[in-house]
This record gives sequence, structure tokens and C-alpha cells, in this order.
Amino acid sequence: MKITNVSYKSYRWPLATPIRNGKHIYPEAGLNVIQIDTDENISGIGLIGGVHNGSDIFSSITSHFKETLIGEDPFNTERIFYDLWQPKIIGRRGMSTRIISGIDIALWDIKGKYTKLPLYKLIGGQFNKRIPVYVAGGYYEEGKGLKQLGEEMVNNSASGVTAVKMKIGGVSINEDVERVKTVRSAIGSDIKLLVDANCAYQYHEAIDIARKIENQDIFWFEEPLPPDDYDGYQKLSQSTNIPIATGENEYTKFGFRDLIKNRCASILQPDALTMGGVSEFLKVSYMAQAENLPISPHGNQDVQIHLISSISNGLLLEYYNGSTDPMWLDMFEEPLQITDGHVVAPERPGLGINLNHSAISKYQVI
Ligand SMILES: [Mg+2]
Repeated sequence: MKITNVSYKSYRWPLATPIRNGKHIYPEAGLNVIQIDTDENISGIGLIGGVHNGSDIFSSITSHFKETLIGEDPFNTERIFYDLWQPKIIGRRGMSTRIISGIDIALWDIKGKYTKLPLYKLIGGQFNKRIPVYVAGGYYEEGKGLKQLGEEMVNNSASGVTAVKMKIGGVSINEDVERVKTVRSAIGSDIKLLVDANCAYQYHEAIDIARKIENQDIFWFEEPLPPDDYDGYQKLSQSTNIPIATGENEYTKFGFRDLIKNRCASILQPDALTMGGVSEFLKVSYMAQAENLPISPHGNQDVQIHLISSISNGLLLEYYNGSTDPMWLDMFEEPLQITDGHVVAPERPGLGINLNHSAISKYQVI
């Protein structure tokens, strides 16, 4: 089998109300898709994470990689990653590695379609069938006060969900402490509460808010500090009782090696759509196993479900239920659905993802 074409498509849609975290405001959401075609009439799709603009740059980088990919056997994921991720030529992080992630995911989708196996079966097989989710939400929004925040988080813990996540870091520390207390009292003591600062704090602020919310039974404190502040992460991990989680802005096995080596966090959050694809995600998961560290993937639930299902150290799957963006449950034909707080990997070949063209086509920008 040989690769015959590589193409990139981007979709952008507006959000009814712009959402904000500790660092960024998002007036729109979207989907970046790589498609790889082969001479066996099998096409794979890969998703690229995290960026809601810059489509033209993604498109140019994809064209650059296309030359290397045409004629290659899509099963050679190790060699293809090695060839694409070259020093000096294309860069070691950022948008180029995000594109490589989408390419690697598409190649694994092809492997699954060719062998007629779901992705999780091709990698580690089924370690866990029913995967517990946490519902991500609790953003800052115009008109969302404490009451509305509490109601949202209660709604997010419906359907048997046992963990919910909210944003902090976007207002003063005392205001955020009030938000956290409001949510804790709204959801009760049985639901896990996760807080996410999206790298908004300096160390003195992170330790301040950690001390002030420690008594709210916080399950994890996500991305308290900028991603490259390994010393700060290490110090904070040793100074607060709240487990530290990080990794959604880390790239490749090399970045996660440094997080692990420096004892930066108790929970690692690789995002296959960003950090290097299925191939790199698995390497990070196995490194983490050796250090007795759990993995809680960041990002697109419909891709990550295969990865977390196949590893022994999966913890919780991040899940967007449509409360911040209804398109989460509309952009694919058969989106992952929660039953009794859990999700199960699909049995369709490869990723098992088919784009719902009738919902997204009108939003295509490239
Ligand atoms: Mg996060």
C-alpha cells in the first residue's frame, strides 16, 4: 500500500457566547482535519488539536510534508515520524508537530481500516472497556454569575458523571476561591472537582490559590504555571496537597521525559492531536507506567478514547458534552456518548470517526 495524496481541511464556527479561560478568549471553535489517501482506496483522517486560527499556516506545513509522504507505506509510522520530525528543517514543537500529530493519527486510521480493526485493538488491545469521564466546562462567560456556574456544573454531573472540571485563573484569586466554593457546594461532596488555570499563574499566585482551595477536596489542579516552568511545577507539587496535572502544552516523548524526570506532576495529560499523534502518545503512556503515573488524555474524546482504553494507567477521559459548544456532539456522525458516567470505544475500523458533513460543511474555511 502506498500514500497517494495528503490534504488539509479546516472548519470554523462561531460560539453562541464566547468562552474564556485563565489565559485566552474563544469566540469560535473548529476542526482541523488531515486526510491521507492510498492506492488501496483507503483514506485515513487525522485531527489536529487546539488551534482555532492559523489555517493557512497549517495548510502550508501540510503541503511541505506531502512531498515526504507520497509513495510511503502508511504502515511505517515509526519511520515516517522520524523523517518528518527533523531538527533544523521544520521545528521541534508548535504547529509543525501538531500537523505531524494529525498525519500520524491518519496513518493509524488507515492501518485500522486496512485490517478492519478498531484502533484500540491495533495498539494495546482492550485494557479497560468502560472509561470514566470528566465533563469539561466552567468557563468564564458574559452573564454567567455564581448561580449559573453552579447550575452548569450540576448539569455537567448528570448521566452518572462522577467528575467535573472548571476554569480558574481568569479573575482575582478571591473571586475564583468563591467560584470554587460555590461549585463544590452545588455539586455536593461525592463528585470529583478538577480546576484548570490554563497556565495563568506565577508561582506565588498558584501557591496562594492552592492553599485557599485545598479544603474544597480538589481532585487535581491543572496547568497552574507556564508549561516550561519545570522548577515551579516541581516546587508546587511538593508544596500543596492538591495533585498537580499537566501536559496539554507539552510535545513529544522528550517533553514528557522532562516533566517526569523533574517530578512536575502527579497526573500527565498528553494530547495525541498536539504532542505527536498515536505513536508518541503510546510512548509517553509507557514511560509513565514505569514511574507509576496515571494518564488522563487532554482533548478530543472521539480520538483519545482508543488510547486510554488500551493502556493500563488510564485515569479519566476529558469529555465535552455540548454545553459550551453543541457542535461537540454534532461534528461526527456517531459521537461518543456517555452511559452511566462512562464511555466505550467504538468497534468501527480505525478511529471510527466519520465527519458529519451536513453539520460542518458550511463552516469550511480551507
Ligand atoms: Mg486544560
